[in-house]
Amino acid sequence: AKVAGKNCYRFYSRAMDQAVERRVHLEHELRGAWDRGELSLVYQPVYRLADGLMVGAEALLRWQHPQQGLIAPSVFIDVAEQSGLIETLGPQVLRTACRDAVGWQEARASGEPMFVSVNVSPRQLRSGDLPQSVAESLADTGLDANRLHIELTETAVIGDEVHASALLSQLRAFGVKVWLDDFGTGFSGLSHLRRVPVDGVKIDRSFIADVLRDPDDLALTTAIIAMAHSLGITVVAEGVEREGQYAILRERGCDLAQGYWLGHPVSNDEFMTLLH
Ligand code: C2E
Ligand code: CA
Ligand code: CA
Ligand code: CA
Repeated sequence: AKVAGKNCYRFYSRAMDQAVERRVHLEHELRGAWDRGELSLVYQPVYRLADGLMVGAEALLRWQHPQQGLIAPSVFIDVAEQSGLIETLGPQVLRTACRDAVGWQEARASGEPMFVSVNVSPRQLRSGDLPQSVAESLADTGLDANRLHIELTETAVIGDEVHASALLSQLRAFGVKVWLDDFGTGFSGLSHLRRVPVDGVKIDRSFIADVLRDPDDLALTTAIIAMAHSLGITVVAEGVEREGQYAILRERGCDLAQGYWLGHPVSNDEFMTLLH
């Protein structure tokens, strides 16, 4: 038993070494990926439920790896976050999204202005550089501040609400809108809304997935909408994959929606063709 235990230990430790090695390798490759043009943004359209008009888009990062092909952000955002690479990547994402959104504004000169929504990771918020990085992106690209939305998860604000609130207030003073992402997945979602200044919440797609089948998920979704509205907060539903989900969200007074049924994330060139 002793020997088996020892072997077992060796096995796990080797597997762990390999995982660490892969991670270090990925981190190394990610370091120059932006400059090599391997990273890009895709945009997923966001629609207003009241009239069905496309009113904005969420920027989502993609990594076209030369050997491994397309890598999802769920794989590399963590690496970027833990290695600190996100602190150089984040501002690049922000600037690119703002620049692309200025192009949308020009393409749709007569119509409704479009917003662009950018994901910001916990470390980016904690570093404290975010307000300056946002201000620089807006100044360099000429995007109106109220056309930029910043998406943060609850984990980014948990534990340090005072610091987070101060940073978010700075952003909101510019006119930038702040959204709480993956809303409903954390236990303390409601109490955060009292302490952290936000303009909107994005109902997590795990609620939307079952909204037609599970009465509890429909009840929660309806309650989130009502509660948010009573606080003057806008509500987005994400992960809308079926017409029925769209219909029921519209009926319950949800403000905005995105999801595969409405539109997949696409390159900026393709997104521009949706504006006409
Ligand atoms: P998220 O912010 O919750 O983004 C929504 C994710 O859901 C995206 O995955 C999107 O492609 C996917 N999605 C959209 N519609 C549907 C649908 O109808 N059904 C389903 N099942 N999924 C849908 P993606 O692009 O793989 O991004 C994953 C996560 O990576 C994002 O989750 C976000 O947290 C993070 N991320 C993406 N881009 C960035 C970035 O530029 N910076 C940071 N810090 N994080 C990012
Ligand atoms: Ca998001
Ligand atoms: Ca989300
Ligand atoms: Ca459920």
